[in-house]
Amino acid sequence: MKQLYLDGVWTDGAAGRTWTVTNPATGEHLDEVAVAESADVDRAVRAARRAFDEGPWPRLDPLVRGRMLHQLAERIRGRLEELAMTDTLNIGKPIRDTRGFDVPCAADLFESYAGLADKIAGKCYGTLPDNVTLQFREPLGAVAAIVPWNFPLTNAAIKLAPILACGNTVVLKPSEVSPLSALMLAELAHEVGFPPGVLNVIHGTGAETGAALVRHPGIDKITFTGRHQTGVQMLEAAKIGMKSVMLELGGKTPSVVFPDAPLEHVVNGVITGIFFNLGQVCVAGSRLLVHESQHDELLERILAKVKALRQGDPTDPNNHLGCLATPLHCANVRRYVEQAHQEGALPVLTGPLPADPQDCFFPPTIFDRVTASMTIAREEVFGPVLSVLTFRDEDDAVRLANDCEFGLMANLWTSDGGRALRVARRLRAGRIAVNGGGALRPNVPVFGYKLSGIGAELGFDETVHEYTNSKSVLYSLATEKTPWPE
Ligand code: NAD
Repeated sequence: MKQLYLDGVWTDGAAGRTWTVTNPATGEHLDEVAVAESADVDRAVRAARRAFDEGPWPRLDPLVRGRMLHQLAERIRGRLEELAMTDTLNIGKPIRDTRGFDVPCAADLFESYAGLADKIAGKCYGTLPDNVTLQFREPLGAVAAIVPWNFPLTNAAIKLAPILACGNTVVLKPSEVSPLSALMLAELAHEVGFPPGVLNVIHGTGAETGAALVRHPGIDKITFTGRHQTGVQMLEAAKIGMKSVMLELGGKTPSVVFPDAPLEHVVNGVITGIFFNLGQVCVAGSRLLVHESQHDELLERILAKVKALRQGDPTDPNNHLGCLATPLHCANVRRYVEQAHQEGALPVLTGPLPADPQDCFFPPTIFDRVTASMTIAREEVFGPVLSVLTFRDEDDAVRLANDCEFGLMANLWTSDGGRALRVARRLRAGRIAVNGGGALRPNVPVFGYKLSGIGAELGFDETVHEYTNSKSVLYSLATEKTPWPE
């Protein structure tokens, strides 16, 4: 049984309730986790508040803060196997991915932001001869961080590393689906010796625990990653106490393949783009927009390769694909596939769908002859479902790529550098990957256009902007007294 981590102490929830965490690949019970209800949320926020208002953390030598983040990175690396297996068992993601991406990426984030801690600087304005204005960047306060289940450890690190580097305190609520690795992270932070209240990890559903957290008046900022519908609720909560808010939401990434694209790279790029983590990725390349001249050959090559992917036990390092995170999510993805059939998309790859409603092994699915108005081309499926559309020319490609409510990312495939930059500038998305260059880098900001978000995640300048307050001190050097009102 796992407890909540509040004010540097492991504790049960006030009412003693627990939540069962299940392995979606087997249906087996993994663990029980204490549920935080409003009294526990209140304790967590008060602890974060006290640690911010009275504790050492925001006032600590930033070098020391950075050193502690660095130690946390090392401890994550030291427990790589255990953390990777925890996320694999919890959400059905293949162990090759949690080992090779999720855990190393989390460690890299803490290491990278450890280096930011002592580089945060203000400005000095000297606009008048007898006045000097200093602008400080100060830690912002107690932050509520709420994350989804698709990259449990990495999503937690993406929030915590920048928040803590800037000297803030935090209450983290992982998804109720996947709380285990975030609780391990708290264990590691405890071992490093973060002062009590700096990091608090609570657990529970969004509707109960999450809602109580973001509405708490002791919170200064809400930083949220999840569905855009939930993002709207964050904006509502932010009104209470005029909290600052940052939202990282969904996507519907187009992968645009121009006639001069190197197809041998495109095939792997498109497959990874949509089938990595079974499409449960905010930037999943779920819309393949291919020039009509390349359509047949590209689709043939993709189909051949996808059919060779191995799907099965996520703990087996030979498997490329695991299962979806919950039976409920599986049912959502199935509804999108059924709707695609009804709306007239042409199924070119549809494995047998799970017969048992508890079976989460959803097969890779590809629909051809998708049109921009179909539901699978417009909504975020968040599953292993690729929609194939064709375009005639560059203008048509840009129109199709932008014909979507989301704007998180776009992939471009072309060997013409001028075209890549020209099209990149016309796309309404915060991140454009050219020829497969889209990997997450700790120092590169992530912006969402349109329904994909507000504010920036990561990036050093952007982090300072998001997680510190600006304070201006206007200093008069005048030797004469102020003339008015005499
Ligand atoms: P979700 O919005 O259902 O839940 C996300 C988190 O919010 C969970 O911890 C949940 O408990 C909590 N929550 C839900 N309702 C709440 C409420 N009323 N008040 C407070 N908290 C609440 O999202 P999900 O299904 O867990 O995750 C999938 C979504 O996340 C997809 O849309 C995906 O694109 C998005 N995502 C975006 C990014 C990005 O960087 N833009 C990264 C990963 C995932």
